[in-house]
Amino acid sequence: MGKVYLVGAGPGNPELLTVKAARLLARAGIVFHDSLVSREVLQLIAREAEVIDVGKRCGHKLLTQDEINSLLVSAAANHDVVVRLKGGDPLIFGRAGEEIEALRNAGVDFEVVPGITAALGAAAAAGISLTDRRAASQVVISTFSRGTEGASMDWGAITSTTTLALYMPGPDYTEVAHRLREAGLPGDLPCVIVSNATGAEQQIRWTSVARLAREEKLPAPALMIIGRVASQKVQEISKAFWRGESKDGHAHRTAVS
Ligand code: SAH
Repeated sequence: MGKVYLVGAGPGNPELLTVKAARLLARAGIVFHDSLVSREVLQLIAREAEVIDVGKRCGHKLLTQDEINSLLVSAAANHDVVVRLKGGDPLIFGRAGEEIEALRNAGVDFEVVPGITAALGAAAAAGISLTDRRAASQVVISTFSRGTEGASMDWGAITSTTTLALYMPGPDYTEVAHRLREAGLPGDLPCVIVSNATGAEQQIRWTSVARLAREEKLPAPALMIIGRVASQKVQEISKAFWRGESKDGHAHRTAVS
């Protein structure tokens, strides 16, 4: 019986893999990867290894999560080293929870190898301190696109000192801007869009919640960092504009710019 490694491939740049991830890719007998994993990272897989893209459409349908779980369990019966390779970190929006449960239930040995999640790759690319002490005290990792449970977002945790990392924002920035405004975020709250963070095609746009609707769409994968830290002049973004926190004590939101 082999072992299944749930390995984080990082945001794209192969230099950002952990040493352990690189070593496992070179030793793997079989690798199951998502479509998000970059070509450069896939090139580090042992030549003899079987490589299966489980993010790819087979005919018209994608493999279901249950099918992937069964593939992992059966691969462990035939290979010493099975690698389940996921973009970023396996434990952030990576469905690793379901795979871990299936492996546990089947009595298959497994190990999680962390990777650099996209929000950290994007923050590094833009030179943003997610917890800049002048403007932030918490980071929320979130998405609009949810699985079966929790279809609606719980925005209760978002305050003037929150940095929001919004994964899978989708191509409709008008809708994103609308939902953020609806959640009470001020229009002039800074927002950075990072596409292909750390990769050769990386693009960065400095904008704001209100201006987002008019921004040109950047290619996927892209992520948004929203909050006072998402500015090149954090010092100048006061928290006074946030709801209920203006100096005169009145709840006030800055008008759409
Ligand atoms: N497990 C991954 C996230 C998978 S969800 C991680 O930890 O990063 C897929 C989403 O991640 C994409 O829609 C996008 O929002 C984000 N993403 C992944 N790679 C990215 C990259 N290189 N640049 C920007 N966003 C990225």
